[in-house]
Amino acid sequence: MVIMGAREHSGNASGDHRLSSGFGGYPALTRPVIGGSVHRLEFTDESSEMRIVLLGAPGSGKGTQAKILMVEKNIPQISTGDMLREAAASGTRLGLKAKSLMDAGNLVPDEVVLGVISERLARPDAQNGFILDGFPRTTQQALDLEELLDQMDTPLDAAVLMDVDFDILMKRLTGRRTCSLTGKLLNIHFSSQEELDECADAGGELIQREDDNEETISNRLEVYRENTEPLVDFYRERRKLLTVDAEGPIDEVYERMTAALA
Ligand code: AMP
Repeated sequence: MVIMGAREHSGNASGDHRLSSGFGGYPALTRPVIGGSVHRLEFTDESSEMRIVLLGAPGSGKGTQAKILMVEKNIPQISTGDMLREAAASGTRLGLKAKSLMDAGNLVPDEVVLGVISERLARPDAQNGFILDGFPRTTQQALDLEELLDQMDTPLDAAVLMDVDFDILMKRLTGRRTCSLTGKLLNIHFSSQEELDECADAGGELIQREDDNEETISNRLEVYRENTEPLVDFYRERRKLLTVDAEGPIDEVYERMTAALA
């Protein structure tokens, strides 16, 4: 079974709801080989402007690929999930409200996320491009983003759909762990025993995200299907959709993604 669009894919609110950028702590990743070119988008050089959305179901690898792309292209990964988790951890009113929705696998209201995103996109480091990871997630968010970028006269270059089979999504989500010490993303189903031991040997623990339990995962996938999958057609109609086979090793997926963006 394939979730359509699963083969696909953060800010600062106002007042006391300050959120941090979501940049910190990304895991050390092997530098991928950058593959040849395929079609359409043209970027002048490795650090050229690139405004993209990564679309895809939870577990499709949006965050992982966005972090590599951020390093390679020198443009920020903006993950609404990361920013909302940071707000939740810092215990702000906004954060605590978001946390209960996130823990259940439900979406945070559009207007909250839009506030977070518009503030984030206005920061200097996002002026030469960005990788949106986990935003937009609803048609309303996509329309709001379109309007925001139109106002800034910086339209989106592409929406990249990370395409992954449903069974693999489940294994990726249920097995996903982060090393508490290094921040490295691991998976108990896919990482080698050596990699898993490395974290424990260094004195770290393998932490599971609170919303990565089976019940919440099923709800998140359902929420994706209902609210976010329609964005595949939304971006297809606007001729912005690029689809990437996001199964297999991280480096290979990265290579396919950059080839699609070339
Ligand atoms: P993620 O890390 O992208 O999987 O997001 C984790 C959780 O944060 C989601 O399950 C939602 O509860 C919330 N969230 C993240 N991004 C959005 C968004 N664009 N719209 C609404 N809720 C979001």
